[in-house]
Amino acid sequence: MGASAYESERAEERREERKTVRQVGDLVDRGLADRSEREVLERVAERFSVAITPDLVDLVTPGDPADPIGLQFLPSKRELRILPEERVDPIGDDPHTPVKGITHRYPDRLLLKPVHVCPAYCRFCFRREKVGPGSEVLSSDELAAALAYVRRHEQVWEVILSGGDPLILPPRKLAEITRAIAAIDHVKVLRVHTRVPVMDPGRITAELVEALRGRTTAWIVLHTNHPRELSPRAREAIARLVDAGIPLLSQTVLLRGVNDDAKTLEALFRELVVLRVKPYYLHHGDLAVGTGHFRTSIEDGQAIARTLRRELSGIAQPTYVLDIPGGYGKVPIGPSYLGPEGEDGRRVVEDPAGREHVYPPRGGDGR
Ligand code: SF4
Repeated sequence: MGASAYESERAEERREERKTVRQVGDLVDRGLADRSEREVLERVAERFSVAITPDLVDLVTPGDPADPIGLQFLPSKRELRILPEERVDPIGDDPHTPVKGITHRYPDRLLLKPVHVCPAYCRFCFRREKVGPGSEVLSSDELAAALAYVRRHEQVWEVILSGGDPLILPPRKLAEITRAIAAIDHVKVLRVHTRVPVMDPGRITAELVEALRGRTTAWIVLHTNHPRELSPRAREAIARLVDAGIPLLSQTVLLRGVNDDAKTLEALFRELVVLRVKPYYLHHGDLAVGTGHFRTSIEDGQAIARTLRRELSGIAQPTYVLDIPGGYGKVPIGPSYLGPEGEDGRRVVEDPAGREHVYPPRGGDGR
């Protein structure tokens, strides 16, 4: 074989190696799944989409069952264990869907979901029954109807692009959507929820960043769960967004075995602040089907939040929240530091170190 033929064959091999892995057989061949589990994992993949990008594969330690990246993206037979309390629509999107692609739960804001695919599929995904190949994007008519809905509802101040992952859209398509939103006078804020900067950072190109910048103020909420996700390429992608003047927040799901210890979360939140991303929400795991092995108890979550409150700078603190099943919205779930009001009108308040104090204190200067 001549040198150039050899080079082009190697280049082709490298391209193959850098492809997103979607088949259980390929996971087995690459040492990312156990051959003896192939059949059961095929059954998992029949129900829940499987994909892992090359950037994420690079972060997995093959053969380590406790690997925090592998746990999040590699299918597991535990997903076939469905608990009675689990739901196909765990946060209740469906009752708030007036037209395809819109979820309108709160008066001043709504979700616009133009796409139902992601570069990789999280094994704990709260929309796992809806995302994946098959129902890829809204058709142009469906998108026009969704935008007409936004236009008709003048109380909508904020449009939240979600999905799927909206940053998987080609920049030109994304620009079409952001331009259409910018033309709606009452919409002042465009919020984009994405995991692309950690899953597939190469997609955050100058053209994509440009598509996000427009007349409507854009905010990005980055979904990230473990400090290992913040690879050098992910950091560069985040910097490209922040340098373009787009403010970034983060969302993290509390996941058993992945990040359910205060030290891991502390490292993640500190690093995010250094990268100019403000930690926003720490989500209690949703009741999505086949995800029971990821959920912690609320008490464990509160204990972690309490430790974070003690150890971590205020700017690195997210709010620990629960999305109430049935579509009733999201609320902070503590822990609470404030006791009930006593007969004397005073309360007991706990400080971050766990010491109790009376408020208002007795014996102030005014008596
Ligand atoms: S990126 Fe979001 S929507 Fe996509 S699989 Fe992960 S959790 Fe689900």
